Amino acid sequence: MKTGKIVKVSGPLVVAEGLEEANIYDVCKVGKNRLIGEIIEMRGDMASIQVYEETSGIGPGDPVETTGEPLSVELGPGLIESMFDGIQRPLNAYLLAAKSNYLKRGVEVPSLDRDKKWDFKPKVKVGDKVVSGSTLGVVQETPVIEHKIMVPYGIKGVVKEIKQGKHTIVETICVLDTDKGEVALTMMQKWPVRRGRPYERKLNPVEPMITGQRVIDTFFPVAKGGTAAVPGPFGAGKTVVQHQIAKWGDTQVVVYVGCGERGNEMTDVLNEFPELKDPKTGQSLMKRTVLIANTSNMPVAAREASIYTGITISEYFRDMGYSVAIMADSTSRWAEALREMSGRLEEMPGDEGYPAYLGSRLAEFYERAGKVVCLGGEGVEGAVTAIGAISPPGGDLSEPVTQSTLRIVKSFWGLDAQLAYRRHFPSINWMDSYSLYADKVGEWMDKEVASDWVTIRTEAMALLQEEATLQEIVRLVGIDALSERDRLKLEVSKSLREDYLQQNAFNEVDTYSSLTKQYKMLKLVLQFYHEGEKALEAGIYLKEILDIEVRDRIARSKYIPETDISKIDEISKELSSVIDNLISKGGVANA
Ligand code: ADP
Ligand code: MG
Repeated sequence: MKTGKIVKVSGPLVVAEGLEEANIYDVCKVGKNRLIGEIIEMRGDMASIQVYEETSGIGPGDPVETTGEPLSVELGPGLIESMFDGIQRPLNAYLLAAKSNYLKRGVEVPSLDRDKKWDFKPKVKVGDKVVSGSTLGVVQETPVIEHKIMVPYGIKGVVKEIKQGKHTIVETICVLDTDKGEVALTMMQKWPVRRGRPYERKLNPVEPMITGQRVIDTFFPVAKGGTAAVPGPFGAGKTVVQHQIAKWGDTQVVVYVGCGERGNEMTDVLNEFPELKDPKTGQSLMKRTVLIANTSNMPVAAREASIYTGITISEYFRDMGYSVAIMADSTSRWAEALREMSGRLEEMPGDEGYPAYLGSRLAEFYERAGKVVCLGGEGVEGAVTAIGAISPPGGDLSEPVTQSTLRIVKSFWGLDAQLAYRRHFPSINWMDSYSLYADKVGEWMDKEVASDWVTIRTEAMALLQEEATLQEIVRLVGIDALSERDRLKLEVSKSLREDYLQQNAFNEVDTYSSLTKQYKMLKLVLQFYHEGEKALEAGIYLKEILDIEVRDRIARSKYIPETDISKIDEISKELSSVIDNLISKGGVANA
């Protein structure tokens, strides 16, 4: 521990002298209130410290004490169902709702409850050899999350003592004999947030994270362990997309980071998630969720830390073998915090005032996503899928945060103000979105869902792309210039857009589509196309094909509940027989 003196305070940035022995990223206690800060630059004995609490009232001459430790989070039972701020201080839900100042400055509150007792069930016995990542035992943290208590990184040895039963997270539950003598372990470990947690090896992400959102799963999937970005202007639906994935994504743990956005969005999460039931477990969504809130009215510096805090917690659950999804809304607000600190440090500004290291910092976040074989030698696999929202000013995708993110992430869901304006939701623009997982995920879909998944996906995509060309022709020379076949194509792509891509997050049934339902729905739209072509060839007028009543049923198929999914097959049969009828009669006009 070393004490220095403040020489300058500039908003959340404090410069202190007399700290020659301190290291970059050491945590400091700043001023008489002992506010929490982190050294972000060292020059000689001068440390620049970003302070995570309001700095009003502190000034030159006040003491600064370094702890000699990097900014770390506490990992152990009690994480799930909690809400923390950017540096993992527990936030009381009621305080957030009341928009009060949450925590008194400088108050030291432990991140995890020290008094609560958890029922520890050992998985090892005296004499067993264990290594970093080995499972010592488990705690049923919530009805759906079995929390593995693992040997912390860097420790291995032989179990000397193991204590079954109810303990707090600071009581010894295991003693190991190691090379360096006896080591007592508790149910809690600490990890520095800016360092990725180690794993045995990375795996190629090939399995989709199923979101139940048709446009994503069918056209722009994200793999479990993959990365995705959702850029879009204000009101385009970024938060709704993130919430939908948090609610419906087939992951076991969700870490939701509300970063610099309005506080009421976190309040929405707090109100909604406990009410919502996970379809697979029947339990409230909060039973598998960790919330990190650093909303727009909270100190800006902690926003910078919040995404590292979030991803560290995600990695920890990954290490237990869970599939975790982390949502960050919004990385633009995070980047603005970075820019503000960089400006106060008087660094050389890069593009639009963002620091030159914007891209590498973003990469440090997204690169911690992945599917891995965990430590511990038990062959356990876990995944972290990272999804970040971007709010480019004016929706301009050429700005630095979007561009830097594009170089890193593999799924890109571009939200479109025009589509949102026309109430086409989710407003993911199918012309400029992409997924580099589509090929691998396609192979998986062909095997797991239907052997012609990739075939119909490709055909539907081609139709949507052709629509743009056809619309251009219509705009220039009018609809009459198109053949009936092309006009049929236009009708089918319209149906793809309206009946398939559009999905109402707020409709009880439409909010989620299983892969089977997605397959049947898409197949149905394309069946209309193929049967329509057949009828045209047989000399039936386009108008007669378009007028068949069964088209209404196709349009409404999205509202068929999962339990009645066979109704889609009935519509398909009806469609075939109606068209066959038309053909055999030579059209209604000729009947
Ligand atoms: P952003 O976070 O991009 O500013 P929001 O996610 O808050 O935008 O979305 C703005 C509004 O758009 C929502 O309040 C909702 O009315 C509408 N919206 C967005 N996505 C959908 C959807 N999938 N279904 C229905 N409405 C949606
Ligand atoms: Mg939003």
